[in-house]
Amino acid sequence: MSKQVLTVLGATGSIGVSTLDVVARHPERFEVFALTGNRQIERLAQQCQQFQPRYAVVADDALAADLRSRLGPASRTDILVGRKALVEVAEAAEVTAVMAAIVGAAGLESSLAAAQAGKRVLLANKESLVLAGSLFMDAVCKAGATLLPIDSEHNALFQSLPTGFDYGLQDCGVSRLVLTASGGPFRCTPVEQLDGMTPTQACAHPNWVMGRKISVDSASMMNKGLEVIEARWLFGVEPGRIGVLIHPESVIHSMVEYVDGSVIAQLGNPDMRTPIAHAMAWPERIASGVERLNLAKVGKLSFEEPDLQRFPCLRLAFDALQAGGDACAVLNAANEEAVAAFLEGRLGFTGIAAVVESVLARSVRRPVAVLEDALFADASARELARAEIVSRQQ
Ligand code: NAD
Ligand code: MG
Repeated sequence: MSKQVLTVLGATGSIGVSTLDVVARHPERFEVFALTGNRQIERLAQQCQQFQPRYAVVADDALAADLRSRLGPASRTDILVGRKALVEVAEAAEVTAVMAAIVGAAGLESSLAAAQAGKRVLLANKESLVLAGSLFMDAVCKAGATLLPIDSEHNALFQSLPTGFDYGLQDCGVSRLVLTASGGPFRCTPVEQLDGMTPTQACAHPNWVMGRKISVDSASMMNKGLEVIEARWLFGVEPGRIGVLIHPESVIHSMVEYVDGSVIAQLGNPDMRTPIAHAMAWPERIASGVERLNLAKVGKLSFEEPDLQRFPCLRLAFDALQAGGDACAVLNAANEEAVAAFLEGRLGFTGIAAVVESVLARSVRRPVAVLEDALFADASARELARAEIVSRQQ
């Protein structure tokens, strides 16, 4: 067993913290090269003290000075600043594995850099595949990177697919991928009450503890929409062969249907340390600290079809995938702006889908051939979304 030298992009977030929890359980397997934390300096300082990385990356010079003073002059950690530094710690020659756990489109450049440098890429940042799926997968292929999904559904699919499927399902007897979804906190809320739901209610996920952005996406089911797009690229499967099934207990994390009628699923308690530990040790298995699944205690597993009237964001994501070009990048950018406005009290909950739908309708589709195309689509869609949000306030 050779030691993995790890960069954790987004170390201070929900996935970052769970990753470091797994790392701390296996000091013989993992060495931390770099931690990035954007603006959460207190937590990043504590993580630097515990894991002694070679580098820490923050958003600006003032935050770097704050971190430096917290770590003290004896610290072995050099502090770097800004977007370029995120790319540098992702592609550094010493690094063997990169946990890509920055939230949103801001995570694209650094995760793509890790793929282009041929690293073992542990991909939590689904937005990378939503913005630039084709580009990203080409980079993985070209550089011989190893791409391992962290998103629990995709990790479950990865575990349920035949070994050596090699990101193409044509010849291995797979008929369909089924992504499970909890349905979030508003699964049973009367539709006419949805617009009155607050950020606190939207972030109160019944099963998972996550960052605020993905929590809102789970409440709107945009998260499942983004995951359908993620699965399309990750596994090279056409959208018609990806299904979504609501499963409120979040015990079955997704399943693969085979042409002979077999269905293979991965089960476990809803704790991200399971997919994280799986991807970090793959093809081996290591302890994650997750409590064992007690099905007798769970008692009953239930399932239902998603209601697209209640969850228009899911429909919009399927439509964007169908439209192709930059539609998924536009969907993602408009959604990020709308979710931020919702969290700040500038937009009602049902306004999220309305803003995304309007931005998709008002923008012209362009192809995404290079990174700049994805970044351009992202920036222009954000502008349209901001204007739309302001006009809805008046
Ligand atoms: P989070 O909000 O808890 O943490 C986000 C991290 O990104 C933090 O470390 C933050 O400092 C950093 N960050 C934020 N904006 C940044 C910027 N502009 N530049 C650089 N760094 C920035 O988010 P999370 O819930 O940990 O999610 C991270 C990613 O993992 C997302 O893409 C999410 O969709 C995906 N994911 C999360 C979960 C989960 O359980 N939390 C599950 C599946 C997938
Ligand atoms: Mg998920």
